[in-house]
Amino acid sequence: MKFDSNTIKSLNEEFSNKTPQNILEWCIKELNQNIALASSFQAQGMVLVDMLMRIDNNARIFTIDTGRLNQQTYDVLDVVRSKYNNKIEVLFPDRIEVEDMVKEHGINLFYKGVENRLMCCQVRKANPLNNFLKTVDGWITSIRREQTAARAEAEKFELDTLHGNILKVNPIVDWPEEMVWDYINKNKVPYNKLHDIGYPSIGCEPCTRAVKEGEDPRSGRWWWETDSAKECGIHFDHNSN
Ligand code: SF4
Repeated sequence: MKFDSNTIKSLNEEFSNKTPQNILEWCIKELNQNIALASSFQAQGMVLVDMLMRIDNNARIFTIDTGRLNQQTYDVLDVVRSKYNNKIEVLFPDRIEVEDMVKEHGINLFYKGVENRLMCCQVRKANPLNNFLKTVDGWITSIRREQTAARAEAEKFELDTLHGNILKVNPIVDWPEEMVWDYINKNKVPYNKLHDIGYPSIGCEPCTRAVKEGEDPRSGRWWWETDSAKECGIHFDHNSN
């Protein structure tokens, strides 16, 4: 299925006042196994996992195991797999690419500057994602406008020019964080236990830490960087930021 900017514009108009569930139902009806939900099982991702699984528990969910995740993230992945009886697709980085990078720059290269950190995100996250997205017509993400400046203009439906003009669907792009937690609590949705100890945003273990009350929720990601976009390049081309 091919998409262009006119189709995307019509979809955004059609779904402007519809629920995330309406959007997910449309995704499954129109694209079925040719669309997949990307999730790292953070709170907003769990909302979409739960909504999608209530619509069709054969729908595709994928995640990227960078090899540097927290144990709590693996734990919630396992809980999701058994609760919804879904064979979550786990993508791994290319072994040779990781070995070459580590040999050249060290295992903790990300602490040695933004360039090295982006290289690690590229090898461990973006490359597996790019390869996967060549095999589908669309993907669903849980990004929300209030998360970062780069996400502030995101729409419910987008033409993903970073990934071969496939469809990118962001059903809860306009949700504030309160709505996320409201949904989780009302529907007893499982979530990553790191959220209970001060992690509003959860990435790889060496690159994420808890934040204090009132601090920017993204400030715990790559906390040693003070002047970066706090993005890993999978949603936005960091060269254009
Ligand atoms: Fe590497 Fe950190 Fe990016 Fe994970 S978040 S891929 S460990 S730089």
